[in-house]
Amino acid sequence: MKYNITKDKLFELFIVKNMRRNEVAEHFGCSDANIKKYLQKFDIKKPFDLECKNKERKVVINCLHCGKKYQTQKFRTESKKYDSKYCSYSCSQRSRYLGEEHKQKIRNEIAARRRARIKNQTPKLSGDEKKKLQEYYLNCPKGYEVDHIVPLSKGGLHHPNNLQILTKTENRKKWCK
Ligand SMILES: [Zn+2]
Repeated sequence: MKYNITKDKLFELFIVKNMRRNEVAEHFGCSDANIKKYLQKFDIKKPFDLECKNKERKVVINCLHCGKKYQTQKFRTESKKYDSKYCSYSCSQRSRYLGEEHKQKIRNEIAARRRARIKNQTPKLSGDEKKKLQEYYLNCPKGYEVDHIVPLSKGGLHHPNNLQILTKTENRKKWCK
């Protein structure tokens, strides 16, 4: 066994010490799902009263937005409202619209949309054309970008005939037109 998870040890942590499943996972340095699997395998279930006690326990967490330490609410109902990641409602809202998490989400959406466009707007390419296309990207020097002459957003194709190498500034100028 990779993590040396035994029934006795699991019982001690999960029932006697009443640790949460994710805390047990942290203890062994493995995933939460792994612990779930072992709990099922050894048929260990947390009794309801222990579960309740656990929920009442307050936990100190760092706010994801402002970094301040805060204590989760009893039963976690209040904090659940804030995803239990933020110290306050205002932090959860600020993070939602200004935070890194939100920005990353937008960046990911833009990248996904671009990938989808490229996929949809790539015609069937011959071996030669594929090679040519790859060469554009492989040979693009630093400070330059591969540009679609007719932009993908205007229905341009992801085909070597529609590609050119531009400097970054030229490319940005094109965007602003
Ligand atoms: Zn905060």
